[in-house]
Amino acid sequence: IIEVKNLAKDFDGNAVLKDITEQVDPGQVIVVIGPSGSGKSTFLRCLNLLETPTSGQVAFDGQDLTTLDTKRVNELREQMGMVFQGFNLFPNMSVLENIKLAPMKVKGTSDADATKRAHELLQQVNLDDHADAFPSSLSGGQKQRVAIARALAMDPKVMLFDEPTSALDPEMVGEVLNVMKDLANQGMTMVVVTHEMGFAKSVADRIWFMADGYIQENSTPDDFFAHPQTERAQDFLSKIL
Ligand code: ATP
Ligand code: MG
Repeated sequence: IIEVKNLAKDFDGNAVLKDITEQVDPGQVIVVIGPSGSGKSTFLRCLNLLETPTSGQVAFDGQDLTTLDTKRVNELREQMGMVFQGFNLFPNMSVLENIKLAPMKVKGTSDADATKRAHELLQQVNLDDHADAFPSSLSGGQKQRVAIARALAMDPKVMLFDEPTSALDPEMVGEVLNVMKDLANQGMTMVVVTHEMGFAKSVADRIWFMADGYIQENSTPDDFFAHPQTERAQDFLSKIL
């Protein structure tokens, strides 16, 4: 569903992504791990063209985004939900309104349909009793679950997560990972940048280890954690496990 070919990205001559060729199949959960500054966020942002690749191709559903006009890219981007470290909820809107906004504005969904779907999604993330709350009254974990529900409201084909639990207090990490785990079990295609190795081990279909501008390893979690092939990955794992 996503095909990346010879992707490279540099910022003012600083080559962050050098040559990446990988693909994500429908229903797959890819967990991207790697040292800080290795380009994981840049890579994720290239997948939906929030970042413009310096060279190479990124195809979504068979269409090379790098060749399309802005309007078409925006249409395809709507099918890729994204959840970041920060929650980016609209502070002046209730939880329900946050979730209804994009479907109504962008897709022209009716108020009634958007409301119904928002309640379903809030049930899915265990927050339906907070539909009328404002973001400022929620915990970090609750906000992040709303952010996930909001991304899902656009019925994306793929969900991209960039360290969704890194800004949370430890006791809230689990509730967010559980929502993500449920989503994976329902067959959602996901690309997840995370330092949560337990999640990576139990949920990922493939681990992509990124360092020095390349995906150095693309393995099953069992293989990656038991037998990392590259010295770079061995060194990384020795520091975090
Ligand atoms: P972390 O684990 O800390 O989130 P990361 O793997 O996500 O790191 P990136 O945020 O993708 O890494 O950054 C990779 C490199 O690209 C860094 O050296 C960073 O300074 C640089 N970089 C990222 N975005 C920009 C930008 N907009 N302009 C210039 N340099 C950038
Ligand atoms: Mg990052």
